[in-house]
Amino acid sequence: MKVAVYPGSFDPITYGHIDIAKRALKVFDKLIIFVSVHPTKHALFSAEERVVMIEEVLKDSLDRIEVRISTDLTVIDTKKMGATHMVRGLRALTDFEYEFQLTHANRVLDNEIDSIYFMTDNKFSYLSSTTVKEIALFEGDLSKFLPPFIVEKLEKKIKE
Ligand code: ADP
Repeated sequence: MKVAVYPGSFDPITYGHIDIAKRALKVFDKLIIFVSVHPTKHALFSAEERVVMIEEVLKDSLDRIEVRISTDLTVIDTKKMGATHMVRGLRALTDFEYEFQLTHANRVLDNEIDSIYFMTDNKFSYLSSTTVKEIALFEGDLSKFLPPFIVEKLEKKIKE
């Protein structure tokens, strides 16, 4: 069975992330989505809230998707799960530089775990969790970026 991990902040999950997860499911039998907890990154949603949101919007695929919180180095948690690959998404050239560094650093840490990249549908190539949080702060229309369940959670969170 081919197992991959899809790590990220998912703060919150967007249609861009969902697009990448669906593409990965065409290649791998099982996808483990890792909600990464970074000691230096402040997230809007708690890791537990992010897990609930991901499970809700991907509920039709939960027979092949598992969602977990990762608190260790991603390569270490990837190996622990018996996965061989880490899935990442590429939007534009600006992602490339960061992902290039990440892939090579990860290879130094563990050369048996490789990274695999998918490009999203062009209509999501500008989309990031940071952008949607900024739009939410100004009470803009989020319906083109996020599933309705996430729109509701984000609008509520911004008001807290
Ligand atoms: P991180 O903080 O690890 O970058 P993100 O949640 O921002 O986590 O993203 C996780 C992965 O999903 C990254 O590989 C990122 O490039 C990818 N991703 C995020 N948004 C999109 C999008 N709109 N299209 C394609 N890939 C995306």
